[in-house]
Formats: sequence, C-alpha cells, structure tokens
Amino acid sequence: MELELLPLGLPSDNERPFVIAGPCSAETEEQTVTTAKQLADKGCHMFRAGIWKPRTKPGGFEGNGEKALPWMQTVKQETGMLTATEVATPDHVELALRYGIDILWVGARTTANPFAMQSLADALKGVDVPVLVKNPVNPDLELWIGALERINGAGVKRLGAIHRGFSSYDKKIYRNLPMWQIPIELRRRIPNLPIVNDPSHIGGRRDLIAPLCQQAMDLGMDGLIIESHCNPDAAWSDASQQITPDILDYILSILVIRDEIVTTENITALRKQIDEIDNNLMDLLAKRMRISREIGQYKKEHGMTILQTNRYNEILEKRGAQGALCGIDSDCIKQIFETIHEESVKQQMEVLNK
Ligand code: PEP
Ligand code: MN
Repeated sequence: MELELLPLGLPSDNERPFVIAGPCSAETEEQTVTTAKQLADKGCHMFRAGIWKPRTKPGGFEGNGEKALPWMQTVKQETGMLTATEVATPDHVELALRYGIDILWVGARTTANPFAMQSLADALKGVDVPVLVKNPVNPDLELWIGALERINGAGVKRLGAIHRGFSSYDKKIYRNLPMWQIPIELRRRIPNLPIVNDPSHIGGRRDLIAPLCQQAMDLGMDGLIIESHCNPDAAWSDASQQITPDILDYILSILVIRDEIVTTENITALRKQIDEIDNNLMDLLAKRMRISREIGQYKKEHGMTILQTNRYNEILEKRGAQGALCGIDSDCIKQIFETIHEESVKQQMEVLNK
C-alpha cells in the first residue's frame, strides 16, 4: 500500500533536525512545568512527556493519566511549545485531543499489536494531528510499516516514524539494539516518511545520547526525540537515560549536520567508479549464469543430478578463504556465493525440466 503523506510541519531551526524533548513521564506539575521552561529557555520548540506509561511489570509508576493533561496545557500556555504524548488506546487519543496535545506518538509495545493499532487508527479517523509511530519492540519492518499503513489508512497524512531500537535478550551496550539497517530500509521503502531517532530508549544510558544523535544525523534522520528532566537522578521512570536541559543543549550544539545534497567532486568521481564496477559485476554474473545453464544442459544429457555437493562445498571454501585474504569477511563471501549458487540451481532446474 502506498502511503499518502504530507509534511509533518514541525518547527525546527534552519536546516537543523527538529527536536522533541522532555521527561519520560509527567510526574508532578512542578517537574513538568519546570523542565518545560528550562527547555524553552534553550530554544526547544516541542515538549514530550508520558501521561500513560506502559510498564513491564505492574506496580511501577504508570503515569498520572488525565490528571497530568492540564499540566501540558500550562506548558503550552507558558512556553509556547507544542506538546507531545504517547497514546495506546482510543481513550488516550480522545483525552489527549480534548486537552489540546499537538503531537501524538504510538509506543513500541503498541506498534507490535495490530489489533491495538487498528483501534487507534479508528479513533484517529477524521483527525488532523501529526502522529509518530515508534518501531515495534521486535525487529520486524513489515509490522512497523503495517502500523503506519493503518494510521495512514484512517486519513492521517502528517505521519512519521520513531526509531527507538529493538529488544534483545542479551543486553550489551544498548538498552535496545539500534539495528540501523531497519530504519535505513524503511527510508528506502517509504522515502518521504520522516524518521525521528530516539537515542534515549536505544541507549538507555546518558553517555550514549550524544554518539547516537550524531550517528542518526550522519544517516540523514530528520529529527530527534530525547528524554530530558530537570532532575534526572530523581526521575520516576527511565532515570538512567534522562539528561538535564543544559546537557541536552550542549549535545545539540556539538552535533555536526552534514549536507547530503552537496557532494564533492571527489565523491562523484568515486561513485562513477563504483557504478562501473557494479556494471562489470552484473556482466560477469550474467555470463556465469549462461555457463551454468550450459552445465545444466550437460547434466541433463548425462543423467547427472543438479546438486553436486562436493563442487558446491569447494566453491564456498575456496571463495571464503580468498575473501579473507582480500580483507572481506569470509562468511559474507560465503553468503554471496550461496545466493549465486541458489540462482544457478534454479536456472539449471529450468533447463532440466524443459
Ligand atoms: C517513552 O517514550 O517513554 C516510551 C515508553 O518509549 P517506548 O515505547 O519506545 O518504549
Ligand atoms: Mn521513557
């Protein structure tokens, strides 16, 4: 399904990524408004805060719910910032809109559930509000795209995606693995869909926010959503990943935004060389397939089986070792030759069955 999209139209400072910042949760009116004012003083235009918090286990702080929505109104009135919060049920949508929340996002746990996504989509019919859909907790691009399609199908055209990383059983550096290839593939599949990076939930640690922001910018992501709290150590949720508005301002000020449109002549020349090499590779692959079909003909005439395991192993081992010598991972080379071999077998089957 093709998405029908309009620009998000969110405020940003000339050519910089747009930034949504604020605490993981709206804990108290004072914490919410104080954080918002500090962020506004640093030039932030958009304020996030969780009103309903999805918690892994019951008993944690599950958000203040409706009680906290007037605090968001105060933030808007006193700072002029746009406000954003997570919605997970049709009730949340209805309440958030009633209190004038400007931007809605869908959390990772909700995106993973098509029933929940459909009920959100139904609640959003006829509503013109920007909606950002976080990636599902599991690394499944189709599920992410499906969720976006459901919301878009309800007529929401100001749509974006948030990359917040993917759950994995053995946590090493990251709280949620970034698996950058997934947002990159999303960009390839839906080029005009804005993608926002969430370094807070990917990193899970304050010291990872800056490098993750830079990586996101280097990959051409459009915006950032970052957790910021006036007193991070005392936060009621996600304390270890929240940073003060001061630190946030510093991190944003050292971000290098590279221009992806202006390429140097140098890179243009290098790309020409790559194109030429790719053309040659295609030529060689076509020749290899032609010869493979001839071998297929030979096997047919001599009653041989198509799969000659020894020969196949020999190719994989030889090329794998060769790869290692040229500085290419031998497993990667084996994968490439497995794929080539698969196509060869397919083409020989066609010859055999003609
Ligand atoms: C959040 O943004 O605070 C949050 C709960 O995020 P996620 O859905 O990515 O876990
Ligand atoms: Mn959080």
